[in-house]
Amino acid sequence: MRAPDDSARYATIHKDRGSFMVPPNLADYEAARATFTWEAARKGLSGLPRGRGLNIAHEAVDRHACSARANRVALRWLGKNGEHRDYSYRELALATNRFANALRSLGVNSGDNIFVLLGRVPELYVAILGALKMKCVASPLFSAFGPEPVVTRMDIGDARVLVTTEALYRRKVEGVRDRLPGLEHVILIDAAEAEGAHSWHGLTQAASDVFEIAPTDPQEPALLHFTSGTTGRPKGVIHVHEAVVTHYATGLYALDLHDDDRFWCTADPGWVTGTSYGVIAPLTHGVTNIVVEAEFDAPTWYGLLAQERVTVWYTAPTAIRMMMKLGVDVVKNYDLAALRFAASVGEPLNAEAVVWGVEAFGLPFHDNWWQTETGGIMIANFASMDIKPGSMGRPLPGVEAAIVKRGVDHEFEIIKASGEEGELALRSGWPSMMRGYLHEEARYQKCFVDGWYLTGDLARCDADGYYWFVGRADDVIKSSGHLIGPFEVESALMEHPAVSEAAVIGKPDPIAGEIVKAFVALKLGFVADEAMRKALLGHARKRLGAAVAPKDIEFRSNLPKTRSGKIMRRLLKARELGLPEGDLSTLESDER
Ligand code: AMP
Repeated sequence: MRAPDDSARYATIHKDRGSFMVPPNLADYEAARATFTWEAARKGLSGLPRGRGLNIAHEAVDRHACSARANRVALRWLGKNGEHRDYSYRELALATNRFANALRSLGVNSGDNIFVLLGRVPELYVAILGALKMKCVASPLFSAFGPEPVVTRMDIGDARVLVTTEALYRRKVEGVRDRLPGLEHVILIDAAEAEGAHSWHGLTQAASDVFEIAPTDPQEPALLHFTSGTTGRPKGVIHVHEAVVTHYATGLYALDLHDDDRFWCTADPGWVTGTSYGVIAPLTHGVTNIVVEAEFDAPTWYGLLAQERVTVWYTAPTAIRMMMKLGVDVVKNYDLAALRFAASVGEPLNAEAVVWGVEAFGLPFHDNWWQTETGGIMIANFASMDIKPGSMGRPLPGVEAAIVKRGVDHEFEIIKASGEEGELALRSGWPSMMRGYLHEEARYQKCFVDGWYLTGDLARCDADGYYWFVGRADDVIKSSGHLIGPFEVESALMEHPAVSEAAVIGKPDPIAGEIVKAFVALKLGFVADEAMRKALLGHARKRLGAAVAPKDIEFRSNLPKTRSGKIMRRLLKARELGLPEGDLSTLESDER
């Protein structure tokens, strides 16, 4: 994934201090960097009563439920059929208490892993926050995943409880349940108590709405998110309760949340943005969090922005590019006067898209950068800061970033010269840094050198300290903002009886950033024709789900491999893009 370097074509967007609708929380970037401490940031939170530690659910819900914000709408849920449901902070506290008690009634213990496989429905939010109250580890899964990504993640994550719907259970879990011997309880939000499954309704109705969160060490695990690498199975990224300090601080500075905001994060909680910023950060600020169940549709989104008087909007490049395709005129049909701040994350945001925001909404999109491992926003275009369109912005106060180069023996040097490309690194020590890859200590340790966390992204830093995304250092694919591991896709293709070899790359796409493209060699006796292509696309879609499956398959009689037998995805990609093929000294077999 390489960012289009169209930076030079767009002038810096200067922020006129007189024009802010409300003064930004971070008024002066340099001053904030000089004085910021994580200890001070933590003072914005309240901690569990009587000094009993720090729990995300208390910061997000309970502390507001017993304050003047008790009756403010915490979650405003807008269903895909036009219905809506509001939960005040007090109601959210009671609902999450009930779910925490329901877990307790099942004999679930703190530290147990609770998986949630749901679309964006209120129960998803209640389940995550209720599980955190019980000090369980909450792991939301993307509901568009097929059975294979679901079972792989639940297996890695030692799932003890699954919260889902009857239809999702039947389609994605029932057939693979024998691969999950540790899965003890399935809770269905829309079904009656039945053999092998509990009813959400039955359990929560029988449960008390009074619950006291047990003392919580800030270092106790709270969230398990999955991310992908180039090789091997997905990585289970562990985050602890202390991560809430970053969620709060970035909500304050990078999203500029103010007390009376109406905030909408368009990401699904099955991906880290949808949890850190679609659930936790806005609630820690006591604002109204808008949850939209429906998938993207530009006019519907504009209608919702207007109808809900959204003030702060956090979205993603693929959606912005789809809006751009429809043109500015459509936007002008809606009254978006309440919208004050717009931000974007997840993939490179073209400079053109930043500027289009000004044309369409009267606001630039503020790009920011982070990843599952960092748990929260690390680099951002802050509200008060001039924007260089195409840049990810500057590091959060409290975060030290650098561009580094790794040597063959993994030693590394920090690049001082501005503008030179290298790997983006962050000095360890912010509260939401992952605490491990579940069951994979060696893989986790490999991310660190000399106290720096190496992100796997290539970037450069200019003379003003702005960071520019260059590309990934590895072969993972970003498609519509979703990180996809090639190995997971290749494994699913290899399961098909006709496939002898498979290699998967990200092919640039003007809307989705990249799409998944597979190169496949067939076993003897199988014919590489259109029917086979369709069969393989269908097979992958069924196993992996539409968000992960390849969109395109090309047949080859053989795939390029190194002498040690590793398929050279890099070479396939270079050829696909017409780029130089690079060092081919290790190439063993090759047939185009
Ligand atoms: P994930 O862990 O799924 O959130 O994906 C993180 C990866 O998405 C990063 O390592 C980057 O490769 C990419 N990414 C996230 N934000 C940006 C951004 N603002 N610009 C470019 N790439 C981004």
